[in-house]
Amino acid sequence: MQIGVHAQVFTGTLDEAGLRTAIEGAKAAGYDLLEVPLMNPVTFDSALTKRMLDDAGLAASASLGLTEATDLSSEDDSIVAAGEELLERVIDRLAEIGGRDLCGVIHSAMRKHEGPATERGRANSQAALGRLGAYGQERGVRLSLEVVNRYESNLFNTARGARDFLAGVGHENVGIHLDTYHMNIEESDNWQPILDTATQLNYAHVGESHRGYLGTGSIEYGPFFRALERIGFDGPVVFESFSSAVVSAELSNTLAVWRNLWNDSADLAAHANRFIRDSMLAVRTIALH
Ligand code: MN
Repeated sequence: MQIGVHAQVFTGTLDEAGLRTAIEGAKAAGYDLLEVPLMNPVTFDSALTKRMLDDAGLAASASLGLTEATDLSSEDDSIVAAGEELLERVIDRLAEIGGRDLCGVIHSAMRKHEGPATERGRANSQAALGRLGAYGQERGVRLSLEVVNRYESNLFNTARGARDFLAGVGHENVGIHLDTYHMNIEESDNWQPILDTATQLNYAHVGESHRGYLGTGSIEYGPFFRALERIGFDGPVVFESFSSAVVSAELSNTLAVWRNLWNDSADLAAHANRFIRDSMLAVRTIALH
């Protein structure tokens, strides 16, 4: 199992300096994988990134949230086509850096929606994701739809909702991505959603209720890690944290990162790496009980 960290723990930019900061920071903190927010596949230098990742011995994944201009759940076919084109380029770049997992809010625009999703919008997203699932499969990239809270998507907000949505996608290469931060807002607990999606869960985010240091908020980690162990989860478990100490032009405002929860990326990341590894190590002994 790979333990990873989101690049924005270290940097808000993906130019050479930003990449170096993120890759060196992830490596120094003890991680196996760096999650790259790949909102701009056109400007992203995959050759440079691959070289730097290989030098550090780190794997990579990619995530993003769609915007209003690329919303696969739009009723406007040209917007859906723009979203599909964007995600194809993201899959290309991720394949070039040797990554396997594309995750995040890739099923709808990541923002507060002014009304519920429409039937046509939902069907548009499902059809596009079916095609993208096939496109990714040919390139060794699997897709995982992040279950986010009601303020960030209107397509589904729970694991069961994602499972129902996926039934309409109908492609084996498209699965589910759960995040403790969002589960804490929408789910009844942190155990059942993992059991409910056991065969489709590819990717997990570990984030605190305020997105700061793990263990300083209201998330119940016990049921979460026990459930991952129970289903034999082997996908990446990735730490996600945001503070106004690190600002990204694309992400910070969308995620409503208004306040400072930490200053020291290195300390935060090393702490989370230990926290996640210790938790997984501990739950593995349950089989002995
Ligand atoms: Mn997340």
